[in-house]
Amino acid sequence: MSEFTPHTSPSLAALDPLHRYCPRCRAPLTTDEIGGHERALCTACDYVFWGNPVPVVAALVEWQGQMILARNQAWAEGKFGLITGFLERDEAPDEAVRREVGEELSLVATSADLIGLYPFPRKNELLIVYHVRAEGEIVLNEELAEIRLVPPARLQAWDYGTGLAVADWLRRAGLGAQAG
Ligand SMILES: [Zn+2]
Repeated sequence: MSEFTPHTSPSLAALDPLHRYCPRCRAPLTTDEIGGHERALCTACDYVFWGNPVPVVAALVEWQGQMILARNQAWAEGKFGLITGFLERDEAPDEAVRREVGEELSLVATSADLIGLYPFPRKNELLIVYHVRAEGEIVLNEELAEIRLVPPARLQAWDYGTGLAVADWLRRAGLGAQAG
């Protein structure tokens, strides 16, 4: 998941083609305001696409005293973020974040402590961000192009998405002067 274009929320009209037609009756959708927000509504039946945010788990991984930042294969050179992923059905968020760390880095999570919850409007996501201590030998899966190991004192937050969690974690660790 890319996290590097700040804060603008796409209008529903810009949503993918799945949301141009009613999933129930195939009629075209239109948009209107319901409950103070723009929604996609069916022009033929009573279907409403509410467009509620999707929860996403993210891990600020600590391994051998260093923090892991990762570059997704889809991201530009030099763009690094946290390990992220979607929850599976019936999966608790802390289980999901441990699973993602295992899948993407091949590490075993030994703890997962919630840093906080952060809105990410551009992707209509709610980020559930954990500080995850992990051990093992790092093996990147196909999602990741490369990682960086950063000493906690040199970690720098960014001002949107998971970066807000990094800033909070730094502040609580007494390293807040680096944030921002
Ligand atoms: Zn319909």
